[in-house]
Formats: sequence, structure tokens, C-alpha cells
Amino acid sequence: MKTTTALPVALVLKVKPTTTTRLVTIRCPVCHRTHQHGWPYSLDIIGSRVAHCVGRHVPPGAPGSYFIPTPTEQRSTR
Ligand SMILES: [Zn+2]
Repeated sequence: MKTTTALPVALVLKVKPTTTTRLVTIRCPVCHRTHQHGWPYSLDIIGSRVAHCVGRHVPPGAPGSYFIPTPTEQRSTR
């Protein structure tokens, strides 16, 4: 039997556009620190990312990834 575990949701603090990608700063739901993830312009949504902190700040067994909701204001281009 397959168990599905809902991913914890990260809070998006900031999206910073750069020439090559967008940098998303999030509040990590696993360790409650901030992390940055690249968000390529080719992707419409951010989606889930691996938590880099698991195994370092967080004991193994904690959720190893989280879902980053896509900020709505970043999807509309004027
Ligand atoms: Zn973390």
C-alpha cells in the first residue's frame, strides 16, 4: 500500500529576477530558516524543491522536500 505524504508548504518571502534565473527566497517549513532556490524562466510554476537542510540542521526522517507556491504577481507580465 502506497502512502502519500503531503509536502509541507514553504512561504515565499521574495522573488528576485536575475539575467539567468529568478531567485526565490523562502521560509523553510522544515528548519524555519530561509533558503534560496533558482526558478528558471522556462518554468511557469516553482513546484517542489529538495530541502538542503535535512541531514544538517534537521534530523533524518523530517520531510525532505517542500512545495513552493507560485507567487501570482510573478505570473502576469505587463
Ligand atoms: Zn530548511
